Amino acid sequence: MGTADGTVTGSTKVVDHGADADRYVFAVMGDGFTAAEQPAFQTACTGFTTALQATRPFDAVWNQINVHRIDIESHQSGADNPLACGDGSAPTGGATTADTYLDARYCGDGSIRRLLTVDSGLAQTTANARVPGWDVIVVIVNHAEYGGSGGGKVAVYSVAADALEVALHELGHSAYGLADEYEYYQGCSSGETDHDTYTGPEPGEPNVTAVSDRSTLKWRHLVASATPVPTTTNPDCTTCDTQANPVGANDIGAFAGAKYFHCGLYRPAHDCLMRTVGSSLPFCAVCQEAIKAEITRGSSPACFVASAVYADTTHPDVVWLRDWRDRRLRPGARGRTGARALVAVYGRVGPPAARHVQRHPALARLLRDRVLGPAVGLARRHGRRG
Ligand SMILES: [Zn+2]
Ligand SMILES: [Zn+2]
Repeated sequence: MGTADGTVTGSTKVVDHGADADRYVFAVMGDGFTAAEQPAFQTACTGFTTALQATRPFDAVWNQINVHRIDIESHQSGADNPLACGDGSAPTGGATTADTYLDARYCGDGSIRRLLTVDSGLAQTTANARVPGWDVIVVIVNHAEYGGSGGGKVAVYSVAADALEVALHELGHSAYGLADEYEYYQGCSSGETDHDTYTGPEPGEPNVTAVSDRSTLKWRHLVASATPVPTTTNPDCTTCDTQANPVGANDIGAFAGAKYFHCGLYRPAHDCLMRTVGSSLPFCAVCQEAIKAEITRGSSPACFVASAVYADTTHPDVVWLRDWRDRRLRPGARGRTGARALVAVYGRVGPPAARHVQRHPALARLLRDRVLGPAVGLARRHGRRG
């Protein structure tokens, strides 16, 4: 605390779709922008917002999103970029040091130059003070070296070329729990020998898996029946796989090589923004689904009922509703048109409605006793007969 490297001067809500409590909230701040460089930070923030809105699936849920810009004047311009880094790389344009508010530095782990980190605790403290309802923080670092990092709900990227794609990739990590879909750590040509074949447990991230069996693949609902599983295998586990994509560009399957291993782990698509940055690639369908689920969390009928009305996720009605949703409404399930329409409606009004009900216990009781309880009871009786 009490850093002497800069000052927070203000904040502005630049995308406003309603109260923060009802929305998914981005807090965007800069590091290494001096007082004189604030216009450049504002331009960078606008660039981020524009790119976000143009990217699937953020475009589809844009009306669920708010963005706040937090203005920070750093004492000096730039970031720390050390001469030596464990990967043997040299700093582009020479080594730099700068006294900046969030202490941005390249080679943040001592071994990879592109790993650009900040004081994420201070970033969160700063966001708490200005935008208490934030869901994710984005830090734009004023330095021309390519880099970024993501974790702990803080995504960091620099103003280098391809920076916006780095930002979206890092958001994939920090806000949506996505893994890297590439199959090396230091690099395919680094000669590393400790990333040949993965032997650990099933990874927790939604977009990588150790499973190559179609029947238990966690994203099997997105795999077409004509797509083989595994879709590719790597003929030489000592190196990266260079074979061409045997299926369609956007097809989902199980492709060997993911999360820093040449073999033993599979990714959902041949390529994805979580695998390659700088080729204008989209997020693959599996990553898109995970992002959308986080932004619209609490918007399904069962979650709406559980969180807002029953306030008890083990209530029999809630259990029944969740089961009904899982059978009828999950992506890939053969939901009726009506059921799909219901989900679409909840996607739009669900989170605000649930938050409204949460603040009005009397309304929650009324809904539970007079509307949802009887409706669920009727549906359950009908379901048993049918
Ligand atoms: Zn990554
Ligand atoms: Zn992906």
